[in-house]
Amino acid sequence: MTAAIPTESLPVAGGREGAGVRVHPLRTADMLAPPAFLQRPGGPGGLLRGLGVHIPRSRWITLPIPSFLVEHPEAGPFLVDTGLHASVASDPAENLGRVAKALYTIDMAPTDAAPAQVSGRGVDPDAIELVLMTHLHYDHASGATQFPNATFLVERREWEAANRGGLLQGYHRPHLDPALRWRGIDVAGEADLFGDGSVRLFHTPGHTRGHLSLLLRLGGGEQLLLTADAAYAQRTLDKRLVPLFVDEHDAYLASLDSLIALSRNADHVVCGHDPDGLRRADGVFA
Ligand SMILES: [Zn+2]
Repeated sequence: MTAAIPTESLPVAGGREGAGVRVHPLRTADMLAPPAFLQRPGGPGGLLRGLGVHIPRSRWITLPIPSFLVEHPEAGPFLVDTGLHASVASDPAENLGRVAKALYTIDMAPTDAAPAQVSGRGVDPDAIELVLMTHLHYDHASGATQFPNATFLVERREWEAANRGGLLQGYHRPHLDPALRWRGIDVAGEADLFGDGSVRLFHTPGHTRGHLSLLLRLGGGEQLLLTADAAYAQRTLDKRLVPLFVDEHDAYLASLDSLIALSRNADHVVCGHDPDGLRRADGVFA
């Protein structure tokens, strides 16, 4: 059953003509994944072989789990995704559930979680009043309750999919805490978050039903593309890779092609879980 949430119409308040944003990538944790996570093996049984049960953990790859602190000159600071909850560092089962704890191999310290990193960049986590969710997979929504004063914007189709889905689809429904202020947005192709062109949202389904990617205009006028999980890594864009897990194959490829086109005009690209990405995790796109 789907819990209904109110609709938030776009744009939200706070836009200013010509505004540019500062973007701080936050690496909230690392997770280990089988090498095929980024590229599903071809042929019959590809999924099963790709799960990597027989591959020694020493050959698994390390993927970052990001969240992004974005500072808009008029609308103030907001987040894109929340990464993993600080409690996962000491007790993964509490936030992710017992099965997930057994399935996922996560490397994290409590200070890696978004609140500590947001504080470290001079922003009070309690002052975060807006979180844009690219989608609701566990590694993006886990940390939501750490921002109790925020309105969480999520594409309506994503909200519905997450409320239907479970572990097999990458969701953990307790993350959709009804005590939080969830709001559904309708992104028909493309939308402008503040109405000033600084944060553009693109519906990029396939990884999940209501997945969103973002194109941000920085203060100096450069463009930063955040693909989120519609492209796990730069090599996904370069080689048009299909990852191990895909919700809708054809939609995924169509979204990937639109991101490949967007990336050609972007000055910077940060992908969803790039093993070589977030090199500037301690830096800022300004
Ligand atoms: Zn995902």
